[in-house]
Amino acid sequence: MRAMVVKNWGEPFTLEERPDPEPGPGEAVMKVRAAGVGLTLVTMRTGVFGGEAPRVMGHELGGDIVAVGEGVTNVAVGDRCAVYFYLNCGYCRWCRNGRETLCENHCGYVGVHRDGGYADYVCLPADNYLPIPEGLDYEGAAVAADAVNTPWHCMRERAQINPHDDVLLIGAGGGVGIHGVQVAKLFGARVIAVDVSEAKLDLARQWGADEVINVRAVNDLTAEVKKLTDGKGVEAAVDFYGAPETFQACIESLTRAGRAVVIGAQPGDVKVNPINLVITEQVITGSRHSTRAELMETMEVMARGDVKAVVGKRVHFTKVESLFNDLKGQQLLGRGGLLYD
Ligand SMILES: [Zn+2]
Repeated sequence: MRAMVVKNWGEPFTLEERPDPEPGPGEAVMKVRAAGVGLTLVTMRTGVFGGEAPRVMGHELGGDIVAVGEGVTNVAVGDRCAVYFYLNCGYCRWCRNGRETLCENHCGYVGVHRDGGYADYVCLPADNYLPIPEGLDYEGAAVAADAVNTPWHCMRERAQINPHDDVLLIGAGGGVGIHGVQVAKLFGARVIAVDVSEAKLDLARQWGADEVINVRAVNDLTAEVKKLTDGKGVEAAVDFYGAPETFQACIESLTRAGRAVVIGAQPGDVKVNPINLVITEQVITGSRHSTRAELMETMEVMARGDVKAVVGKRVHFTKVESLFNDLKGQQLLGRGGLLYD
């Protein structure tokens, strides 16, 4: 099979011919039909997520199961499947209570700690495959598996969005953010979208944002948010960018009992006044990917057409390097899509 291999972390992809994978006990092989590309992968390729190279990257995947190993009962040859990103144990208390991204025996990520799907075939633990519902195509399933399930978990469980909420979304025009706009609208919120370019803000508006703020065109983001909410502030603020200064703005934009949630984390510190937390009962927290159940729910709502995959550009998977260049240059609107033959 053809595989796009990172020989050493930090290096570009090289196209290699590799033997087709054979499933071991408990594993299954999927013919990849579609894949997503986002900024997280650009970060991963620098090596900061750990894992060993050479590595075939790619975790947002949709395809067909073509072989199953001994003891596999949850999928069969011919099943259309999406891939779950996390390699978790399945038996610790966090896995068992529906918070598997907090697994105590976390084994890493598909495409970082074991080979992913920027290749004709991928071989994974059978538990990492979830069925694609009727009405959702392979590309939709691939995008669901990171760019939509992540905001789905965030908006419902962490930001706890209600229909009467004003919600601030920072980085709303990015690959995950643009689906965050749709999910927040689906939960009924009034969305204030923040990003760095008019093109990204136009996209956010197109997908349902009620108000937009170009952060490069204002001096004080928090003051703009207060202006748009009659001085109240927002019930929830979600930061897809995650720089200390943007997350600080999220915290300062909250109204009483507001929730500030960071998804796209960058290193640094924010300031919090404990007295203010007592007086306001505000919550400052993070949101980590999604559970398998949430990915299944995400695919169901996408199959109904309630959230749509926003794919800005598609190339053949052997040309994935060009999408990485677009992402690094902030040239990509929405998710990148990979095509397979
Ligand atoms: Zn676990």
